[in-house]
Amino acid sequence: MPIYEYHCPKCDKDFEVLVLNSKEQVRCPECSCKGVTRLMSGFAHKGGEDGKMVSSSSGCASCAGGTCSTCH
Ligand SMILES: [Zn+2]
Repeated sequence: MPIYEYHCPKCDKDFEVLVLNSKEQVRCPECSCKGVTRLMSGFAHKGGEDGKMVSSSSGCASCAGGTCSTCH
């Protein structure tokens, strides 16, 4: 089963979510914020729908660029 790693820019917390439905909105378990960023590490390269996720990810609050790869 797909487990994804997410980062919440609000409380600066990383957490893992077991994604049963990819269309389901993931919320931060701490603050219920919906603006979480999916991290592209580990399981993400297993295949699937990564093209959409890469283009829609505009980076987290702590990095000004288009990717989070430089701040984690
Ligand atoms: Zn949060």
